[in-house]
Amino acid sequence: MNASTPLFENAQKHLVGGVNSPVRAFKSVGGTPLFVSKAKGAYLYGPDNQRYIDYIGSWGPMILGHANEQVLQAVREAIELGLSYGAPSEKETELAIAVKTLMPSIEKLRLCSSGTEATMSAIRLARGFTGRDVILKFEGCYHGHSDSLLVKAGSGALTLGVPTSPGVPAELAQFTYTLPYNDVAALHQVFSEAGDRIAAVILEPITGNMNMIKPLDGYLEAMRTLCTEHGTLLIYDEVMTGFRVAAGGAQSLQGITPDLTCLGKVIGGGMPVGAFGGRADVMAQLAPEGPVYQAGTLSGNPVAMAAGLETLKGLSAEGFFDKLQNKTDVLTAGLKTAAHEAGVPLCTEMAGGMFGFFFSDAERVTSFEQATACDAPAFNRFFHSMLDQGVYLAPSHYEAGFISAAHTQADLDQTLSAARVAFKAARAG
Ligand code: PMP
Repeated sequence: MNASTPLFENAQKHLVGGVNSPVRAFKSVGGTPLFVSKAKGAYLYGPDNQRYIDYIGSWGPMILGHANEQVLQAVREAIELGLSYGAPSEKETELAIAVKTLMPSIEKLRLCSSGTEATMSAIRLARGFTGRDVILKFEGCYHGHSDSLLVKAGSGALTLGVPTSPGVPAELAQFTYTLPYNDVAALHQVFSEAGDRIAAVILEPITGNMNMIKPLDGYLEAMRTLCTEHGTLLIYDEVMTGFRVAAGGAQSLQGITPDLTCLGKVIGGGMPVGAFGGRADVMAQLAPEGPVYQAGTLSGNPVAMAAGLETLKGLSAEGFFDKLQNKTDVLTAGLKTAAHEAGVPLCTEMAGGMFGFFFSDAERVTSFEQATACDAPAFNRFFHSMLDQGVYLAPSHYEAGFISAAHTQADLDQTLSAARVAFKAARAG
């Protein structure tokens, strides 16, 4: 029994599973989810005001820290001017310019309200542009919960053991081909057999939904070449990695130019914003310029635009990502050392303000198969020990972690001393 228990019990009477998004329910790790009463800087506060160092950051958006003063001020000013117009306003253009400046592969974009909307719409646009139906995705990559993309998906869909959800018609799922991530031979094979039927390849260019996995050398180059040769659009789902692993996203680190990019999370700074954009000739197929339909009552919401703009401004500051990456380095190196001292096999991955750690004796985890073979019970024991010590990690070993500009050295020190205890608890199982 803790302070969240009565709130969770009550919530379960009225909300399905007591939550509004499945991973929040702690199904994978067991126990009662933390109910949050407020958030500030690097911290979440429970119902009894107990403080937790937060490494989820609302699943990515809060890169400046919670309730950042500049973001709050921009939101306060926007609220005074009205909550929604359903008509164009200048801030939408300003956010579009800010996105394009950070990600030059985006020539034109469309703003929407979630990552799911962004990927779903990008897929429709790719099908409309190419006149083809098949899309190619990768096992363990999650792209939101639209029907075409909920096939062998990662994240909560993996945790719950329903990679293909009931309710997705088989007739539709047949158009979604799924390959193992980081398998270049499989890629060549599918393109040689069906390349002229594939409208788009969609991927997480650094994954965060089967824990954090980076592409192997040459993999993305091969993918880019095959897509170009076969007239297939390459869609980078940077909903998680955009403005997170670097100001210009994974594409800026990898030197690959996708045809379309999907964005979410950081772009709204904690408010509901998504976006997709890329080649101007492809985007020109979208309504009202072209025939492919997409719309949204709250798209370009002025309050959300204000939060997004201020967040992008904050992370564009000189040296922002160097400082952030230093913290992530300290954290992942410290976790590795603590695990080693406790005799627990662990490997880590990181980029910018995103990290992953695997209870695995592999040197590096690079495949979905390896990710699913990790010691989940050990992770669960580690997770609960950390939570008991006031450190809030993602409640599943398939999730990546996020750090913010608000995390201090003292937060990292406290986290690592908790980890030394937690790795012993992990081992004790
Ligand atoms: N794509 C990726 C890579 C994601 O990580 C997520 C959400 N975690 C989505 C798409 C879906 O975004 P949303 O939850 O905002 O619909």
